Amino acid sequence: MIHRTGTAVQAESTQEPQIASWQAQLAAAALTPQQLAARLDLPATAVQDAAGAAGQFALRVPEAFLRRMQPGNPRDPLLLQVLPSAAELTPHPGYSADPLGETDSNPVQGLIHKYHGRVLLIASGGCAINCRYCFRRHFPYSDNQLGPEQWRQVMTYLAADPSIEEVILSGGDPLATPDARLGRMMDELQELPHLKRLRLHTRLPVVIPDRITPELLQRLAASPLQTVMVVHINHANELDAPLRSALAKIRETGTTLLNQTVLLRGINDGLAPLKQLSEQLFEAGVLPYYLHLLDPVAGAAHFAVTEDSARRLAGALADNLPGYLVPRLVCERAGASAKVPLTPILSENGA
Ligand SMILES: *Cc1c(COP(=O)(O)O)cnc(C)c1O
Ligand code: SF4
Repeated sequence: MIHRTGTAVQAESTQEPQIASWQAQLAAAALTPQQLAARLDLPATAVQDAAGAAGQFALRVPEAFLRRMQPGNPRDPLLLQVLPSAAELTPHPGYSADPLGETDSNPVQGLIHKYHGRVLLIASGGCAINCRYCFRRHFPYSDNQLGPEQWRQVMTYLAADPSIEEVILSGGDPLATPDARLGRMMDELQELPHLKRLRLHTRLPVVIPDRITPELLQRLAASPLQTVMVVHINHANELDAPLRSALAKIRETGTTLLNQTVLLRGINDGLAPLKQLSEQLFEAGVLPYYLHLLDPVAGAAHFAVTEDSARRLAGALADNLPGYLVPRLVCERAGASAKVPLTPILSENGA
């Protein structure tokens, strides 16, 4: 997974003179497990062991995402992505706080240059939602914030390397940043003569569709760079009407829309949910891009799908869908020059 774990973003919100609707929704997103249970008519037993894990990594889920969960269903695939559980507290061999060892590719604070031709900027440490499986749940954001001084260093680094053709705004979630600041970053980036593409890796439009403001749409439409947005949707139930409408508006700006999914045990690890997701993404104008094997981050082992099962699932998808609806199954390995592809296991006979 590429974008990074959230901490609160209220501090950044104060830079905007007016509090936008999405910012108010964000500020209201933190809940206790008890509040969540009451809101969704869940039995108290469903959250009885959530407190310990929530103490380590807070429960955070905005109402616009909660609304897509089925009340009374403790196995709801959206609920399971955000509900803290005692399983997070059990250590597992091979699961660590920094599974990708990114410090090696961190030449300037807030910038990760791991792959040829593109760099990733940690545009914001905040997220709209705390996904329990996130590999950034342990990340030291305070060391990697892009303040004015860091931003100048980032621009100097980018200007000095003409091989960089693409900048990826990531985080946390880059869209946790107010439009005014995002606009200033975009203005400066587009002055770099060798830059061709601007990519955003974000889950915010999925979690709070109101984040797709007229100002943001205008910015994307006006950018002289080619714009790409990679959203993060794990299950077809996340695609409700407000999200579809937001995605349609993004498309109208000429932005290419792609999706990345994390393969999660008990949430989307079957042919039916993955096939439905690809089909519904396409109906919403989004192409499936990556299907990520879970990063081995401490606290997430209970979400892991084995590499063999993942390859069989990717094979089953390829057996059942046109090629352009089959996301690439990949994992991240420290030191690799790109995301590492995993070969799908296909069935022997077609049609
Ligand atoms: C995933 C990732 C990218 C983008 O990789 P693509 O294969 O181009 O999508 C870039 N930088 C870093 C550090 C990444 O983790
Ligand atoms: S949206 Fe979820 S997966 Fe993405 S960085 Fe935030 S917490 Fe992690």
